[in-house]
Amino acid sequence: MLDMNWIKDNQELVRNITAWKRVDFPLDELLEWDEKRRELRQDTEQLRAQRNGLTKEVERLLRQGDSVAGEAVKEQVRELNNRLNLYEAELTEADRRCGELMLLAPNPVSQDTPIGHDDKDNVELRRTGTLPEFGFKPRDHVELGELHNIIDIPRGVKAGGPRSYVLKGAGLLLHLAVQRLAIDVLTARGFTVMDVPVIVRPEALERTGFFPGGMDQTYELNGDNRWLVGTSEVSLVSLYSDEIVELDSPMRLAGMSACFRREVGSAGRDVRGLYRVHQFSKIEQVILCRNDEGVSEGMLQEILANAEHILQLLELPYRIMSVCTGDMSLKTHKQYDIETWMPSREAYGETHSASNLLDFQARRSGIRYRDADGKLQYCHTLNNTAVATPRILIPLLENHQLEDGSIYIPQALRKYMDGIERLELPH
Ligand code: AMP
Repeated sequence: MLDMNWIKDNQELVRNITAWKRVDFPLDELLEWDEKRRELRQDTEQLRAQRNGLTKEVERLLRQGDSVAGEAVKEQVRELNNRLNLYEAELTEADRRCGELMLLAPNPVSQDTPIGHDDKDNVELRRTGTLPEFGFKPRDHVELGELHNIIDIPRGVKAGGPRSYVLKGAGLLLHLAVQRLAIDVLTARGFTVMDVPVIVRPEALERTGFFPGGMDQTYELNGDNRWLVGTSEVSLVSLYSDEIVELDSPMRLAGMSACFRREVGSAGRDVRGLYRVHQFSKIEQVILCRNDEGVSEGMLQEILANAEHILQLLELPYRIMSVCTGDMSLKTHKQYDIETWMPSREAYGETHSASNLLDFQARRSGIRYRDADGKLQYCHTLNNTAVATPRILIPLLENHQLEDGSIYIPQALRKYMDGIERLELPH
């Protein structure tokens, strides 16, 4: 959410951002309701003052024993009260509409964000690692998973429907190993890693900026007024809603959770294998810091570097993309995606997404801190994937396959994999 005065002072910019982000934000309607609200507030205050004056007049007249005049003024007070009730009801409605429309206002983007229509307009900033050169016909992760008896998609679909899967044996160990690695890296880098609720109240989703826009992407638990999160960012930020937090140094938080996504609108896209599924696991980084753009930009670089470090430990080639306006969500101010090389796609595929939201989420969630002058300020929030699995198993299995079908296990994962250096084919 933005500040109403800021919106009024920056209408041209807000119109541009709305167009660049391709979001539906009725600015004119909000301005009309806000003006109406201002007028109603003024009128209501005037009527109240008038009514209070007349009430005193009634008391004076009755004290003087002039009951006829007193009753006449009393009648005027009654009429005023009736009008006041109507005005107050209208004011409540205007406040409600303004609140509703404010939720749709897009966060402004950073100066260095490319303006573009969709992910094709994202800008590659740099590449790290070398792409594998196979002297044989490489298999994709589905074939490798079947060969090793570690991924079972048909049975997953039998139980869970399309976009479901089963990880078993060494597949499950790899799934756990990448998460343990991410937890250990983040813990060593000062993060508090938590297991957080995946079932949340709708307020948590609204206040973190996922609702109302993302309602159709979110699973609802019918009858309970509860929803399943698509990322633990929702839970982590909501842990601090309506709190005054201590931010002498940034809060470094990480969530370990299952994530649930309806993937509405993705019909027919990425249907093979583990790329786009309804349920996955993610270790997510979340930062709360002072509302100083220099500080939050520094934190964005830090959480990006953490993700890159994990990919380097996994010995995977990747590239960093600067995400354009049209591929960003309402809440994002600046975003980098990391795309990791996926041989079966002969392309880089998105595996991480890092965002600085400035104070957008904190305003909606009521998360504040006291600055050096003791003044309450909304903080900045940021987030980035540390690792999301099973998607990361795609590059892991495919890049590290060897000609005989075995799979090389990167050094950093071995301690979580009973020390094995290679996943050999079952006999
Ligand atoms: P996001 O929160 O949408 O930025 O996604 C963060 C990361 O979660 C992505 O980069 C993917 O690695 C992973 N991810 C998102 N959606 C899915 C999905 N439907 N299936 C598998 N992994 C996903």
